[in-house]
Amino acid sequence: MKQADNTYDAIVIGSGISGGWAAKELCEHGAKTLVLERGRNVVHNKDYPTANLHPWEFPFRGRMSARFMEENPLITKAAGFGADTAHFFIQDKDHPYVQEKPFDWIRGYQVGGKSLTWGRACQRWSKHEFVAPEKFGYGIGWPITYDDVAPWYSHVEKFVGVCGTRDGIDAMPDGEFLPPFEFNCVERDLKEKIATHFPGRHLVHARWAQLTQPTDLHLQQGRGKCQARNLCMRGCPFGGYFSSVSSTLPWAERTGNLTIRPHAVVHSILYDEQKRRAAGVRVIDANTKEVHDFYSKVIFVNGSALNSLLILMNSRSSRFPAGLGNDNGILGKYVAFHNYRGYASADVPGFEDNYYRGRNPTEPIIANYRNLGKQEMDYVGGFTTFTGAWRERGDESKLETTIGAELKDIRATPGPWKTYMYLQGETIPKESNTVSLSKTAKDQWDIPLLVASVDYDTNDDKMVKDFLDQSAEMLDRAGYKNIFQNDSHQPPGLDIHEMGGCRMGKDPKTSMLNKWNQLHACKNVFVTDGACMTSTGNQSPSILYMTQTARAANYAIEEMRSGNL
Ligand SMILES: Cc1cc2nc3c(=O)[nH]c(=O)nc-3n(C[C@H](O)[C@H](O)[C@H](O)COP(=O)(O)OP(=O)(O)OC[C@H]3O[C@@H](n4cnc5c(N)ncnc54)[C@H](O)[C@@H]3O)c2cc1C
Repeated sequence: MKQADNTYDAIVIGSGISGGWAAKELCEHGAKTLVLERGRNVVHNKDYPTANLHPWEFPFRGRMSARFMEENPLITKAAGFGADTAHFFIQDKDHPYVQEKPFDWIRGYQVGGKSLTWGRACQRWSKHEFVAPEKFGYGIGWPITYDDVAPWYSHVEKFVGVCGTRDGIDAMPDGEFLPPFEFNCVERDLKEKIATHFPGRHLVHARWAQLTQPTDLHLQQGRGKCQARNLCMRGCPFGGYFSSVSSTLPWAERTGNLTIRPHAVVHSILYDEQKRRAAGVRVIDANTKEVHDFYSKVIFVNGSALNSLLILMNSRSSRFPAGLGNDNGILGKYVAFHNYRGYASADVPGFEDNYYRGRNPTEPIIANYRNLGKQEMDYVGGFTTFTGAWRERGDESKLETTIGAELKDIRATPGPWKTYMYLQGETIPKESNTVSLSKTAKDQWDIPLLVASVDYDTNDDKMVKDFLDQSAEMLDRAGYKNIFQNDSHQPPGLDIHEMGGCRMGKDPKTSMLNKWNQLHACKNVFVTDGACMTSTGNQSPSILYMTQTARAANYAIEEMRSGNL
């Protein structure tokens, strides 16, 4: 292909949560934009094959075959994985990587990426999370503050549609929210008991990318009200939750400026030694293995943190022999994640005459109450606690031994109320937590395999213990019974919140990206997915990736217009 036929204003690598936002903003502002996606195409509604299936319509009632489970020990561990969602996850054998230390790398390679299967929790970071690592000495400073991103949070929330309540809590700022789903009676009870016994702890609605009351902007996207089916991860025919497939990508497409190229595995970013800028992107066709080069003024790297790092590390030139922009040698270092090891639950007596309606796809949250603006624990960082309550269907202990009419009767009888709490904790970005390229092993496209060497530390252990102690205490003070606590000791990665490795910072000696997410050493390359994260905070991260992407894309447009890029 001639270079002129392959040249765009902007190239976006990856079509998931962050890539969709880059495409939307760039296209809306007139930039001819090419989105490169390694997986197959997924079209809203048309490619949701399980969206309306009942359990009995699946070959094994929603379970996977024993052979599939044996062949895919890793991906079948992922939250939300099942016969109804398997088509939005990779299979283990197709995409190997090296685990120097145990690390569960959960991926979804298709147009839409993991935006199709994500959990949709969308809390804003507090102002403390941006400053705590530097203030308390467990990380470098962010080059941006909460005030820099606040208007962009609003911009994203309005378009995505985020439900929640305005609670005025320091640890979890308010945003542009649609009305929340209702708490059930036990959730209300727990909220009141925590407020009574633990002043300063707030059980509130978490924020969720769920259209409880669509606005004109959502209707213009072709999306409608969430029907409380809680089948989101299959793809929603109503567009009731946010994915790039139902929202940002079709929006970008309508401008006439978008080209999406599926089956395009990005190999590397090409560097022009004379012009001292990135020239374009080298792609390998996933099916034919043909090599194509595409060119543009700016490049957005949105392959999801670890894949973005892999691409940057594999982008070697005379100027950057250790990977694009990697003058200081820290590309691939300071990888972090969220600590998801803690879980607690309890039985809740006293509400047997209460039930609830619909399948609420959201959960309450207890906002972070640890190390908030001051260092008070024997560990650093904070954590949020997701929680909720439900009623079992009958006496579940009898399910294994009962069949026929008796089983149906059991299932038709409301059982006991239960409640749970699980941890989402901040972790420390450490130089020793790294990903790198294998020197020997390559994938089927001749790209070096990723080597993951990421682990927990004693800070994480202390946080898990505190979470478990505090959760048990809250459940106990609420009067709940049979309190259960568990540290799963699961490997990092299973949280699916991998971050860092190409962190933002004020100083090019200790960071890779500036405050606009540009590589310090190669300004026309922007990294705006999880790889850019300087620290992990304790909130679900994706809304911040979207916010940073929208902010950086608008900056890139300004810089292109003024001839600086
Ligand atoms: C079950 C589950 C629950 C989750 N719950 C939440 C939650 O509640 N809240 C939250 O904030 N986050 C949640 N997450 C995490 C969230 O999905 C990710 O943070 C988010 O999708 C990251 O966005 P991204 O654009 O970086 O990556 P993705 O959405 O994964 O998109 C990356 C895209 O890049 C493509 N790609 C990768 N490498 C290449 C290459 N070399 N060439 C071309 N294309 C490439 C991929 O195929 C993919 O389509 C959850 C994830 C899962 C799976």
